[in-house]
Amino acid sequence: MRAMSTPLITPDNRPAAKAAVGGPVRLVGLGRKEIAEHLENFGIEPKKVRMRTKQIFHWIYNYGVTDWDQMTNIGKDLRAKLSKAFSLERPEIIERQISVDGTRKYLIRMAPGIEVESVFIPDVSKTGALCVSSQVGCTLTCKFCHTGTQRLVRNLTAREIVLQVIIARDDLGEWPTTQDNRKLTNIVFMGMGEPLYNTENVGDALDTICDPEGLGIGRRRITVSTSGVVPEIGPMGERTSAMLAISLHAANDSLREQIMPINRKYPLKDLMQACRDYPGLSNSRRITFEYVMLKGVNDSPKHAKELIQLLRGIPAKVNLIPFNPWPGSAYECSDWETIESFADIVNRAGYASPIRTPRGRDILAACGQLKSESEKQRASDIRRQTRLKAESP
Ligand code: SAH
Ligand code: SF4
Repeated sequence: MRAMSTPLITPDNRPAAKAAVGGPVRLVGLGRKEIAEHLENFGIEPKKVRMRTKQIFHWIYNYGVTDWDQMTNIGKDLRAKLSKAFSLERPEIIERQISVDGTRKYLIRMAPGIEVESVFIPDVSKTGALCVSSQVGCTLTCKFCHTGTQRLVRNLTAREIVLQVIIARDDLGEWPTTQDNRKLTNIVFMGMGEPLYNTENVGDALDTICDPEGLGIGRRRITVSTSGVVPEIGPMGERTSAMLAISLHAANDSLREQIMPINRKYPLKDLMQACRDYPGLSNSRRITFEYVMLKGVNDSPKHAKELIQLLRGIPAKVNLIPFNPWPGSAYECSDWETIESFADIVNRAGYASPIRTPRGRDILAACGQLKSESEKQRASDIRRQTRLKAESP
């Protein structure tokens, strides 16, 4: 399975490699350690590196500054020098869409050909979650997921994961971190890609995202969702202390294999054992099992009972996700009554079983729809431009 996680392009994260590309080095998105290395290479006195790193880290991640002159506890001359060597620039937002329900979708160009989508979902209360991507594309080919039809381009770096949070913070105007009533309170790794094929970068990104002197998002407000990369589940929990979500979608091996090929490699028995062993699992830290409702496929009362059986003994809640269609998808969403009776059966067995309201469907930002429209859009733009060129005199 390792081979599946190997990115096709390996971005070189080392500070020296970045500096060698020329132009100012982009600091935003980097962790404390990398910032310190850059400052050391830049020539900051070794005994002052720690202090300067702390200051700069705080300006970037607590205040969200975009201009070196705002860093008032750093002398003017040093600021001027730093501003020549390092930039506080954000990546380009290619497209920003706001749904009628307030969901915001960002298409961000991290590097040439590396375009990433993230989605901010405001809650009805004061909170809101940012759904981030961990890879461009995905190696797994879950039959109901549009991301799964797109080949893996590469793993995102820790910096590229952190930048998705920065962009949303900028857009929501939620700097500094310490301000009251921030809406971006939670992060879910439910965008494009399989985070457990990119655990090192996800772990490093969380160190920056959860740093109390920076973006300040609590580790219990982070949920990492996996299709079931069994050997990585425990280590990820140890490394990040994040909440776990499992994309389950079927409670017996033969059905799960059909819709999620990863089940052949890691069958349910192993997956459920990894869940039982998840670090910190308790009634106050339950695992979320996601279950997409596919008409006539996995939505009968028999399936619901199978699910209850499978979850026995695990502190769990079940998120029922109405299937979100995408162009060319082979499934339909279950009828509303079917979803409700499924939810009732699960609920009567003692598991919370909310039905997830689809958000941002009008801008194709709902679960499993990511990337699709942007690719389609670009393809149609190219066609249109080609046509215009051909038509122009
Ligand atoms: N790769 C990880 C993270 C992506 S999470 C994982 O699979 O868990 C995206 C969530 O949306 C997963 O639970 C996925 O199964 C679900 N999903 C995918 N396609 C969907 C669709 N078309 N409609 C509803 N949910 C979908
Ligand atoms: Fe990849 Fe998750 Fe989609 Fe499966 S559901 S194809 S693992 S992104």
